[in-house]
Amino acid sequence: MKILVINAGSSSLKYQLINMEDESVLAKGLCERIGVEGGNIVYKTGDGKVFKKEKFFNSHTEAFSELVELLTTGESAVVSDVSEISAVGHRVVQGAEKFSKSVIIDKEVLDAIIEVSPLAPLHNPAAVSGIKACMEVFPKDIPMVAVFDTAFHQTMPEKAYIFGIPYEYYEKYHIRRYGFHGTSHRYVSARLAENLGKPIEELKIVTCHLGNGSSIAAVDRGRSIDTSMGFTPLDGIIMGTRSGGIDPSIVTFLQEKEGLSYEEVNNILNKKSGFIGVSGISTDSRDLVNASLEGDPRAQLTCDIVRYQVKKYIGAYAAAMGGIDALAFAGGIGENSLHMRAEVCKDMEFLGIKIDPELNVKYDRTEHDISAPDARVKTWIIATNEELLIARDARDLISK
Ligand code: ADP
Repeated sequence: MKILVINAGSSSLKYQLINMEDESVLAKGLCERIGVEGGNIVYKTGDGKVFKKEKFFNSHTEAFSELVELLTTGESAVVSDVSEISAVGHRVVQGAEKFSKSVIIDKEVLDAIIEVSPLAPLHNPAAVSGIKACMEVFPKDIPMVAVFDTAFHQTMPEKAYIFGIPYEYYEKYHIRRYGFHGTSHRYVSARLAENLGKPIEELKIVTCHLGNGSSIAAVDRGRSIDTSMGFTPLDGIIMGTRSGGIDPSIVTFLQEKEGLSYEEVNNILNKKSGFIGVSGISTDSRDLVNASLEGDPRAQLTCDIVRYQVKKYIGAYAAAMGGIDALAFAGGIGENSLHMRAEVCKDMEFLGIKIDPELNVKYDRTEHDISAPDARVKTWIIATNEELLIARDARDLISK
């Protein structure tokens, strides 16, 4: 069985075709600048062939047509016909309270994704464009599945998701904590349990997904009970360009002092804050680590802030779960930054967390146990794979 996984942005399309027999990637790539000048598609086959084409794509539909062409014809072909693809799994950012699981897409589901779009105005409309375009290009009998970033966190109890503002705003606008990166937290926690050889139902796990966007989750016996991202992916820890959680009165203070509109404040908090905002150097954690090693004080400060915040969340979630058995680092920073893992896990023996400094260096960028032999808590680097989980969900749903 072959499953195509799609992550559609407003002007981009990421894709992966996965062979479910051995879960290998047959082809993957990215189409960028859809609807604008300078459009291009990059396509890589599992055996290492790379194809790149500059082309103007007027719409997602045109981008899908190009993808089908690449998948099925000439040297790039990995299937002889699109009918070999059993299902398409679509990543959808916001499922709100309507979706606690992945679902097969029908008209009702599509309407519901559109209905909750005000809660993710940049993301859901893009996913809807992707789904509709895909439906136009692919044969009608290929099922489409929606996998939501928020679904895994729908198990959070009310006390974790209701904010301390008038309850009527929850009722009127559905303002609450949703949490994001759910597919990653679900994959990482399940994978960690598998690596530990224990049923997830017996484990209290903290998963740290640290990348350009970062979030941390408390996964108590397989269920997310709290997570750092909130109503939107702006909450939680400091990120590449996002502020993370701040005192909300800073918003009104800045609006007043700087005469800023809500769009301007939104732009500052989402695009000009975080690593770039504090350091003034870069949105990329590698640049910050390098600059801090060269003695730049604000790069150092930025690194200190992120590590301190991750540490605090781990402590908070251990308290929320009444303990912690295992800790996972995933995402571009979690998997690749040994400095980050070392600093976060420093002086955490009181919780049972202790990593082996040599293993932390040796297994950098590799899925591996990095715990010290006498650590009570198992700390692992886990290579997250959201696409694979989307493909597995699609397979499971169409196999029912
Ligand atoms: P996204 O959230 O966009 O999926 P990624 O998970 O790819 O992002 O993470 C991107 C982040 O990972 C960047 O901040 C990048 O600097 C960081 N990163 C990648 N490699 C390293 C490394 N060797 N050391 C530190 N950070 C790294």
